[in-house]
Amino acid sequence: MTEWQKSNWRNKPRVQMPDYTDQNALNTVEAQLAKYPPLVFAGEARTLKKKLGAASRGEAFLLQGGDCAESFDQFSANAIRDTFKVMLQMAMVLTFGAKVPVVKVGRMAGQFAKPRSAPTETIGGVELPSYRGDIINELDFTPEARIPNPNKMLQAYTQAAATLNLLRAFSTGGYADVHKVHQWTMGFTESDRASQYREMANRISDALDFMKAAGLDSDQEPSLKTVDFYTSHESLLLEYEEALCRLDSTSGQWLAGSGHMIWIGDRTRQPDGAHVEFARGVLNPVGLKCGPTTTPDDLKVLLERLNPANEEGKLTLIARFGAGKSAEHLPRLIKAVQEVGANVTWVCDPMHGNTIKSATGYKTRPFELVLQEVRDFFAIHRAEGTIPGGVHFEMTGQDVTECTGGVYAVSEEDLSDRYHTACDPRLNASQSLELAFLVAEELTN
Ligand code: PEP
Ligand code: MN
Repeated sequence: MTEWQKSNWRNKPRVQMPDYTDQNALNTVEAQLAKYPPLVFAGEARTLKKKLGAASRGEAFLLQGGDCAESFDQFSANAIRDTFKVMLQMAMVLTFGAKVPVVKVGRMAGQFAKPRSAPTETIGGVELPSYRGDIINELDFTPEARIPNPNKMLQAYTQAAATLNLLRAFSTGGYADVHKVHQWTMGFTESDRASQYREMANRISDALDFMKAAGLDSDQEPSLKTVDFYTSHESLLLEYEEALCRLDSTSGQWLAGSGHMIWIGDRTRQPDGAHVEFARGVLNPVGLKCGPTTTPDDLKVLLERLNPANEEGKLTLIARFGAGKSAEHLPRLIKAVQEVGANVTWVCDPMHGNTIKSATGYKTRPFELVLQEVRDFFAIHRAEGTIPGGVHFEMTGQDVTECTGGVYAVSEEDLSDRYHTACDPRLNASQSLELAFLVAEELTN
């Protein structure tokens, strides 16, 4: 392999990226972003890599979640807080239930660019370019809205910076203090899972009271008062990614400064393509989506290319096959990994293989299928003697009706009530919590 440079992806075939028409505007934006501070720091990315290494050995567990696509319109402190809060709850269920440290990574502060199944969209006989995420163009179905506009990268950067600022404040400013485990439940509507959560919170409070009575003041213990929370997104819009790359002076390595972890999507994982070329050179932990069309041969090339030093925690394989399909695909990929002795962290994305169009016309995901893919993932790893290292969800703290099923039984007719996603359907807070209890049970089986 030739020596990596942050701009070499430009010489490789690219897919799923916009063709900007105004080259001057694009150059100006890239130059501007290149001067801005990185959003994350090399030491943080390295710490996350270590934690993902622990997850690959079964000594920790990755919880990765957030919007399918962040939106400029729906950007608000409350929305960020609510997603953060649900992730804290889920992490608490996993830590308490499965007695394992949970590595918390948001699909946040940079998850703006979307791959699409078709380059254009036709409504009522009118054909327009597809919407590709708020960092690229707009959702409105008008010719102007669908023109890719490089200036949107600046707004995405600003929103990502503000999001990260708030996440850092929530993580260390008192909100995530475990003594507040009861307060995170506020806003819960009643369900079996809510009472199960409260029961768990009572037990945690008891344990803290006991520690205090025994002379251990948990109020003074930093690890109980703060959390580590990381950010991640699909590294799709490579002009943005390249512009935020920074040289880490301590290691001489390049950092993708746009987020702690980046991943390569199922549609852009061509071994000789632009996206793999970009990701192979950065020091950050990298995720790789693996779908039904991932071949063992391609995977072997990707393992070598994306993690040539075979570092633990460097590469996370995110399996997204669809309920009932993992048995056909996961074992052959596990075997490919074993044949080359690669270190990887196996993670389950039970969302992207289970998207269907409902009878009412909405894109949805039946919650039962999501649960099924998670169960299959654990069962296959048990059978293969390999480690399930984490889960990857599209979820929100908002009370949306985007995925059918769950304790409140969202029906296909209900989807129109609160369907707010700019792209794929997300689990709502109650469905997310339910899933966390299932994962905790699977981890203790
Ligand atoms: C996504 O994570 O939003 C996505 C598009 O996933 P995939 O690449 O697995 O289809
Ligand atoms: Mn998605």
